Amino acid sequence: MKTLQDLELKNKKILIRADLNVPLNEKQEVTDTYRIKSFIPTLEYIMTKGGLPIVISHLGKPKGQKVPTLSLSPVARELEKLSGYKVIFINDCIGEEAKQKVSNLHKNEVLLLENLRFYSGEESGDENFAQALASLADVYINDAFGTAHRAHASMFAVAKLFSERAPGFLMQKEIEYFDQALKHPKHPLCVILGGAKVSGKLPVIHNLADKADSLIIGGAMANTFLAAKGYSMGKSLVEEEMFSQVAEIEEKLKANNCKLFLPCDFIVTSDFNNEIDLQSVSIQDFPKDKMALDIGEKSTKNFSKAIQAAATIIWNGPMGVFEKPVFATGTKVICEEVARNKDAVSIIGGGDTAAAINQLATPEDFDFISTGGGASLELLEGKYLPGIKALEI
Ligand code: AMP
Repeated sequence: MKTLQDLELKNKKILIRADLNVPLNEKQEVTDTYRIKSFIPTLEYIMTKGGLPIVISHLGKPKGQKVPTLSLSPVARELEKLSGYKVIFINDCIGEEAKQKVSNLHKNEVLLLENLRFYSGEESGDENFAQALASLADVYINDAFGTAHRAHASMFAVAKLFSERAPGFLMQKEIEYFDQALKHPKHPLCVILGGAKVSGKLPVIHNLADKADSLIIGGAMANTFLAAKGYSMGKSLVEEEMFSQVAEIEEKLKANNCKLFLPCDFIVTSDFNNEIDLQSVSIQDFPKDKMALDIGEKSTKNFSKAIQAAATIIWNGPMGVFEKPVFATGTKVICEEVARNKDAVSIIGGGDTAAAINQLATPEDFDFISTGGGASLELLEGKYLPGIKALEI
């Protein structure tokens, strides 16, 4: 795979697939600029090398319709403010106007085209739509890791139409960290998984069973593992249909000498909205009428041993319902434990785990926080992502 630094950019028109899918409020203002800021190093590099950037992105789910509230126009204003470059917004991403504006693009100007998903050809991976996008530029850069698991036209079909193509800096960092951690990890490798459902994370466990030295499971996922062993979990979220698969995966972990850590105590309550009547209980005396919404203190102490012994840590999924402060302690303590092991490389999955870290910890304490929830999960499952595959030569 070529890198951005390998490419000749001077005076070239550069089609950059970015992930500028940011939240907007009812006044059409950007409420979180993280994704825009994360893209700026790639944009800046292209500008300093004299390239002419044509930025494309999706925003929300307009499903092939022109939805005015999902226009990228407010993002253009924010990108201009944050990057310091003049950003020209075009209210279409293909067609005559886009072509004309591209041919008039001057040095130090950035072109941002309208939401790709206003065309149904984007999500269906249509070759003609890809061709129309490709006709605008000489070089293709993909910096949209968050969409890398989708074979959308701007991610996959379009890349094939350029001989000069490479990942942007953000995408490259994602590829390097996950490649290193999954293919050549420094051992011991400790994998921490949490979140709501075992069913969503089972492929990850299958893929990592022969790579990891320890596997910590928290969140509601752990309930299913414990219930499958015969423990009563009261009214907690349990996936009974997964029992046989959970038993199978435990065998696989054993066969590969991967030590499994499950919680031994919990913070429980009578129902999801009851944040007052809380109790700390051990697995042995789990009340019939309560549900586990966080892991307890003994569990975090136990998990800490594996975390401190690790040379590589991969974490995906919260330890409890971290969105509610009273059930966020388990996740917060695990944040602190991962941050405390300064000798280990720590890699955090995107989505909920990244949100939990932003809410409960200092993001700078971790080596790498992925910008893609679904995409990072698919990498952990061992899948090839179309958006990355398309950049390989
Ligand atoms: P996932 O998308 O599978 O990573 O799940 C993330 C969600 O799992 C978060 O919204 C958490 O609130 C939720 N979660 C974590 N632990 C529990 C639990 N013990 N019971 C119910 N939901 C949980």
